[in-house]
Amino acid sequence: MSRRYDHARVQEYWQQAWERDGVFECPTDAEDPTYVLGMFPYTSGSLHMGHIRNYAITDAYARYRRMAGDDVLHPMGWDAFGLPAENAAYERDTDPESWTRTCIDQMKDDLREMGFGYDWSREITTCDPEYYQWNQWLFTQFYDAGLVDYGAATVNWCPDCETVLADAQVETPPEADESETTANTGHSHTHGGVCWRCGTGVEQRDLDQWFFAITDYAEELYHGLDDLEGWPDGVRDSQRNWIGRQEGARVSFTVSHDDHEAVEAFTTRLDTVYGATYLALSPGHDLARALADEDDAVAEYVESVASTDDAGMSGVETGITATHPYTGEELPVYVAAYVLDDVGTGAVMGVPAHNERDHAFTDEHDLPVKQAVEPVDGSGTDLPHAPYTGDGMLTNSGEYDGLASSAARERLREHEAAESAVTYRLRDWLISRQRYWGTPIPIVHCDDCGHVPVPEEDLPVELPDYVQTTGNPLDAAEEWKQTTCPDCGADAVRETDTMDTFVDSSWYFLRYLSPHFADAPFDQQTADEWLPVDVYVGGEEHAVLHLLYIRFFTRALSDIGLLDREEPVERLINQGTVLHSGEKMSKSKGNDIAPHEYGAETTRLFVLSAAHPSQDFEWTVKDVSTAYDFQQTLYRLVTEYTDRTETRTESADHDAYLEREIDRTIAAVTEEYDRFRFHRVIGELQRFARLLGRYASYDRPYQFAYGRGLRVLAGLVAPIAPFLAEEMWQLLDEDGLVAESRWPEPLRDVDDYRIERQVVRRTLDDVREITEVVDIDEPNEIELVVAADWKYRAYEIARESDPDDAIVGEIMADEEIKQHGDTAAGFADRLADRGAGLEPIIDGEPELDTLQQAAWLFEDEFGCDVVVRRAAPDDDLAAKARPNKPAIHIS
Ligand SMILES: [Zn+2]
Ligand SMILES: [Zn+2]
Repeated sequence: MSRRYDHARVQEYWQQAWERDGVFECPTDAEDPTYVLGMFPYTSGSLHMGHIRNYAITDAYARYRRMAGDDVLHPMGWDAFGLPAENAAYERDTDPESWTRTCIDQMKDDLREMGFGYDWSREITTCDPEYYQWNQWLFTQFYDAGLVDYGAATVNWCPDCETVLADAQVETPPEADESETTANTGHSHTHGGVCWRCGTGVEQRDLDQWFFAITDYAEELYHGLDDLEGWPDGVRDSQRNWIGRQEGARVSFTVSHDDHEAVEAFTTRLDTVYGATYLALSPGHDLARALADEDDAVAEYVESVASTDDAGMSGVETGITATHPYTGEELPVYVAAYVLDDVGTGAVMGVPAHNERDHAFTDEHDLPVKQAVEPVDGSGTDLPHAPYTGDGMLTNSGEYDGLASSAARERLREHEAAESAVTYRLRDWLISRQRYWGTPIPIVHCDDCGHVPVPEEDLPVELPDYVQTTGNPLDAAEEWKQTTCPDCGADAVRETDTMDTFVDSSWYFLRYLSPHFADAPFDQQTADEWLPVDVYVGGEEHAVLHLLYIRFFTRALSDIGLLDREEPVERLINQGTVLHSGEKMSKSKGNDIAPHEYGAETTRLFVLSAAHPSQDFEWTVKDVSTAYDFQQTLYRLVTEYTDRTETRTESADHDAYLEREIDRTIAAVTEEYDRFRFHRVIGELQRFARLLGRYASYDRPYQFAYGRGLRVLAGLVAPIAPFLAEEMWQLLDEDGLVAESRWPEPLRDVDDYRIERQVVRRTLDDVREITEVVDIDEPNEIELVVAADWKYRAYEIARESDPDDAIVGEIMADEEIKQHGDTAAGFADRLADRGAGLEPIIDGEPELDTLQQAAWLFEDEFGCDVVVRRAAPDDDLAAKARPNKPAIHIS
């Protein structure tokens, strides 16, 4: 009776064995361990397929590196603060903390069941005061370093979540135009967005808010991307776009207003300055605010656009004028909502002839269109009906006429009214949240002293008990809120905003290094030695938020002197999406599959076998059952061996092939693990398992070789199917745990393993083709004749020569080759024709060995005798033999 492998039956046993032996604990005195990190999960209550894929990747790699001899740091923790916990608590009539703890218990069980091996002694939970006190401590450090700002800000407000949203948390509704920013001018537009969590339309409100000054790092963060060679290009591009660095010029326009002498407008198209026909201010611009105080029409307009998401190309003429610095012309000044406060300078020169938005504005307000650039190819323009936005040659531009756009941008900058400028789309990071379930911002508001940071000895400021309210819960916690001023001792109130949970995740990878360190968020010495994270794996949806914030924190900590690193992550892998019926799996779409549904380890094996980690793949029951069958195949190979035990102790000729293929498989699999190509690892192992099966049925297996093959199989599959591998290891009567065993090593040199495999595969193909073409049903004998040595010499000479060399001459200059006369010359001619296309080869003797070892495969497949030999002198067949392509004779 055949035995079946049942993961559920064994998983608890092996998890306990791993834990008992502390297999996954990274020693604190390790020297620069390999740091493998998966993005820690939000504590939503259950693992979904995206988690499984993410963590299967890190676990496979971490297990592989550990077996290969590295110290490995592979920790796990919980991103435990956040609004969904509040919502869930509300729905379930509990509090966010209880709900979160329940989720963590559940998810931890799930992770164990999957066989993921974490160093749980380093577990962190962001809602623990032991963790979030360091958010507060870091806040005060940033505060002292001038990296924290407080101020009135027009903020994105979700009326449904009753909270402020960061720009990055405002999403474009699906039906809206994707191109929100016109690349030419930096005018941009965030109106009309929806909340990233609930999809409600986002409003604008003015509130006092806390910010981290990430824009101080815009330039560094931008240029640092060039060096992140281990990051996907897509992520680097997303960050470049998000930072939105633009080089251009600031142009100063004098205005006819008593309190304001000049307005600066930023443009990337200074070459179009002669086409400016108006000046437009954002509704929040200082001058616009001043004008609103004086002018009812302006006041009314500013008010009206503040409460709408869709101000379109509306605007109001102000009655003042601006003097064009190059022409002296007086231009009308508008306040227009399409100009954003926080982009560029909050003012633009309107150039309707050469900018789409300015043109659209002009259409609505009946302003003149003046051409300043014309296409150089003479294709003409559709002005004034449509703008021409390309570069070209200057026209109607006074002394600059005839210059090319790029040259004109340089020359025009020499004018006293213009100066070079760089702007960024990146905004400061708004961290205030008017919610309960987050880190209290450690500030006390005192009437006399202003905002006073809570002193280090009074940290943490712990959350009060949960208050159920529709507003800001901390604001409603009256007793908690009342305190005294740390500076003067007077009655004062606590800040009631909590931090954006992205603060928690911006430095958690540092806490894992020294999770119990009591003097600081992390031990600097360990951090300097152990960072950067060697491999970080997570979803690409984090390209611009989390993955920018960890870079910002690392650089800020480095500048404050807490860390000696500028970038946190060496290699980043974004795992692709698991699709079902063509769509991303999700509960809301109802196409999700619970990780347990098909068995934990089967699921784990399948997500790794389906595709390269960065590629999307489709979940199919058929492929899942292939993964299941693969487990059974491996298990059966081992149980049949141990149950049957009819082996040979004397070796036979064909055993050498298995022994060599074991070496080749180790080499191939190791390479694939190094490159994170787990799907190819599994492909190799499937092939290897088939070979073992075939070998065992060809003849009684040679105990030494076959036993080693099965041990190697268990070792190589262990990072991917860890429970199964432990079962195999135990059945094979091996000592200890496979998870702690040494990575299998080849017995002999494997540099040429690919070529050896290729020789066997091609020769098999050739024999198949011949038997088919000549229609030989039952051959008597297959003869494989390996070429004479001089041909290998000739081949190597041709391969090493330059394409320009006289290859035939070089070959024929060799004394030994020359002896073979016309045959040699003909062979040299053919080599010269192939020139640079010559692949690497193995020599004649290893080729002979390789084919002799493989002879049983030919015997087995074609059912006849096989002779493998070297070419003899004056041998008819030998003439046809070429290096690594034996002559074949079938009789
Ligand atoms: Zn919302
Ligand atoms: Zn005070």
